Amino acid sequence: MALRVPRPHLLFVIAAVAMALATAMISSPQLRYCPSPRGRHRRRGRHSPAAATVAASATPRSEENIVIVGAGVAGLATAVALRRLGVGAAVLEQGDALRAGGTSLTLFNNGWRVLDAIGVADELRSKYLRIQGMRMRSPAAGGRDLREFSFEEEAPGQEVRAVERRVLLEMLASKLPPSAISFSSKLKSISEQGRAGTLLELEDGRQILSKIVIGCDGVNSPIARWMGFSEPRYVGHMAFRGLAEYADGQPFEPKVNYIYGRGVRAGFVPVSPTKVYWFICFNRPDPGPKITNPAALKSEALELVRGWPSDLLAVMRSTPEGAVVRTPLVDRWLWPGLAPAASRGGRVVLAGDAWHPMTPNLGQGACCALEDAVVLARRLADAGGAGADGAQAQAAMRAYEAERWARVFPLTARAGLVGALVQWENAAVCAARDGVVIPRLVRLGPFLEHTNFECDLLEPAPQST
Ligand SMILES: Cc1cc2nc3c(=O)[nH]c(=O)nc-3n(C[C@H](O)[C@H](O)[C@H](O)COP(=O)(O)OP(=O)(O)OC[C@H]3O[C@@H](n4cnc5c(N)ncnc54)[C@H](O)[C@@H]3O)c2cc1C
Repeated sequence: MALRVPRPHLLFVIAAVAMALATAMISSPQLRYCPSPRGRHRRRGRHSPAAATVAASATPRSEENIVIVGAGVAGLATAVALRRLGVGAAVLEQGDALRAGGTSLTLFNNGWRVLDAIGVADELRSKYLRIQGMRMRSPAAGGRDLREFSFEEEAPGQEVRAVERRVLLEMLASKLPPSAISFSSKLKSISEQGRAGTLLELEDGRQILSKIVIGCDGVNSPIARWMGFSEPRYVGHMAFRGLAEYADGQPFEPKVNYIYGRGVRAGFVPVSPTKVYWFICFNRPDPGPKITNPAALKSEALELVRGWPSDLLAVMRSTPEGAVVRTPLVDRWLWPGLAPAASRGGRVVLAGDAWHPMTPNLGQGACCALEDAVVLARRLADAGGAGADGAQAQAAMRAYEAERWARVFPLTARAGLVGALVQWENAAVCAARDGVVIPRLVRLGPFLEHTNFECDLLEPAPQST
């Protein structure tokens, strides 16, 4: 995870800038999901299918003040933060329940500050182990140690815990009224309706007219596509993740274990007294076909790390087959002047992966989604919540974007650069990494400075207690 290497870093910046500029020029933003009204009217006039559907439909249309699309980390945290500030919101989720898979998420100081601010941290803390340090090894020479860190010594005050995604989502949802989340509510299309608001059409035909829409619909966000964002870019690495189960108690110290090979790296971290999360990142020119057979997934993962340290292999073998997932890693760099704005017309705004998908190399995607949630909720609440007029809502969204862009763009870039560095296959580079960089140059404290984030407690509004 944590490599601080001045010179290669510079080379990477240059290479990455050139690469990202090329990508930005090739993949200019397109409206592939649902044409914006401006484009639609220009090309098709008032008889466009989308406009006709809205005008002629007999489907009942409900109205909302604020709709959040997506009940993931960003969507639920935003709904909870708004509620604590006395602002209600309806959440639409395409799934028929909260996401159960997805193994675990490692949360750092910034994630915990947000969870404290919205009142769910302590319940989570009681379930998950506080990680005390980090051990870095090489698969060569039987998994020899490259370095061992203790957070207490190198990054005092750093709070690191891996939490099960399912439990995090359930905990957030438990702070909302039961009717706040509508499941099986997949957004199909979105269109502007002038001053009336934004019309959301769902797959089942329902229509919702909302004053404000918050797009928290994840890495493949249809709302981001509609706003003109390019598709996320596959970075050339994929990840396996799994959650091992030890009914009689897992045997590991509360440390993050990293093992660095050539073009392949793996790690595991104890999550709770009975669960251990593991991952493998590996290079692959394209994501290839999706593998749906759980046994095939697990055996492909084991094959990648054949002969690696036995504790890693034991963790992987203790994983139920259904608890292994394989994901292509993607990101999208929000280049100033090239990326579309995060909000549109003071009516639609993005948060979390929908706006800034980043690779997991710093463990910051969900942490940043949580940060987005409190900043956006505070801005919208200060602007008057559901009572904000168009200009107030627009100013709030722009202020949110300015504050968050300065945070998430550098982090997305840094996560991408760290990933490129640690996935190098070249034998000489890997030898330098194992012999010099990790043992002598890596400093945990400075590396984790990005986890500094302060936010005040969001006080529950009287009516939401
Ligand atoms: C391999 C890997 C490891 C990671 N590890 C970490 C880590 O250790 N720490 C960390 O902080 N982050 C980590 N992340 C990042 C983290 O998973 C994401 O940043 C986080 O899930 C973003 O939350 P989100 O709410 O924006 O998106 P999501 O969690 O993807 O939620 C989006 C929601 O929107 C719903 N949705 C999508 N489309 C529609 C639609 N049309 N209509 C209605 N609903 C819709 C989806 O069903 C989903 O529930 C990791 C990511 C990967 C890939």
